[in-house]
Amino acid sequence: MLDYKTEVYGLIGNPVEKSLSPIMHNDIYEKLLKNRVYLAFNVKEEDLESAIGGMTSLDIKGFNVTIPHKIRVMEYLDELTDMALKLGAVNTIKNLNGRLIGHNTDGDGLIQAFEDEDIDLDERVILLLGAGGASFGILGSILFRKNPKKIYILNRTYEKSLKLKDKMDDERLVVLKSIDELKKSEVDILINSTSVGMYPKVDESPIDLDGFMDLTVFDAIYKPLETRLLKEGKAKGFKVIGGIEMLLNQGLLAQSFWDESFLISSEDKNKIRKRMMENI
Ligand code: NAP
Repeated sequence: MLDYKTEVYGLIGNPVEKSLSPIMHNDIYEKLLKNRVYLAFNVKEEDLESAIGGMTSLDIKGFNVTIPHKIRVMEYLDELTDMALKLGAVNTIKNLNGRLIGHNTDGDGLIQAFEDEDIDLDERVILLLGAGGASFGILGSILFRKNPKKIYILNRTYEKSLKLKDKMDDERLVVLKSIDELKKSEVDILINSTSVGMYPKVDESPIDLDGFMDLTVFDAIYKPLETRLLKEGKAKGFKVIGGIEMLLNQGLLAQSFWDESFLISSEDKNKIRKRMMENI
């Protein structure tokens, strides 16, 4: 039951209508019997500063932040974690007694998804497809948290790959102009962070899997839950991980950032994943 003690959390973005975050976080509060509620707020760009001001004046305990506010919101915060600084973007804000702390769990959601499958990214050769917003969070997190041997970046627009490499400034990054420059059998892990294969163009795939050996394939896309890339990976006997795992884990990591004592059983995690899948 909601009452005057109910703690308010939420999502700010524009649009927020299709977000799965309210389902995920309210499910968590229900399962953990917490007197908390999670709401979605559609915030226009010109209202961002006042929305953040409302966080302290209304004692809203935490916000998730989504497109288009992830970068500009940093101007209105008191402190940024190392990860938020590394990625130059915030997806989670904690209100700690009136002090607003910005963090980013996007890329860590992907790392957790690999850890859930007992796949280590250390000393691995990774091929990252894409150089957009998701690619940036994924790459930053892998370089910050893990120790990959090499990461190849391949994107439709070569200049964007170069920009991504420059921003990350890490000698383990190699930019490819074309897949032909790569010996596919050298790659251990393929990460698709392009939108190729996303609903409604579900018949598309960003890469031909012929030539890869003993690969793990991750696709950031979660609609559809099983992309053409993942289907083809499975058919070749490769291990595959879907984007829903990253989405779920970034949300759980945001929850842990707000509440350090937060713990969820694998049974409850499975139930929340199932509810999210039903709502995609
Ligand atoms: P974005 O910033 O718009 O980037 C899109 C990327 O896809 C760019 O690299 C773009 O290449 C490439 N691309 C688009 N159409 C292409 C085509 N026809 N052929 C080849 N490359 C193409 O988008 P984003 O925010 O990074 O999101 C990318 C995907 O990740 C989306 O499907 C999104 O749903 C998913 N995502 C998932 C999660 C999760 O938690 N699972 C989180 C964030 C995003 P160019 O640079 O050449 O345009």
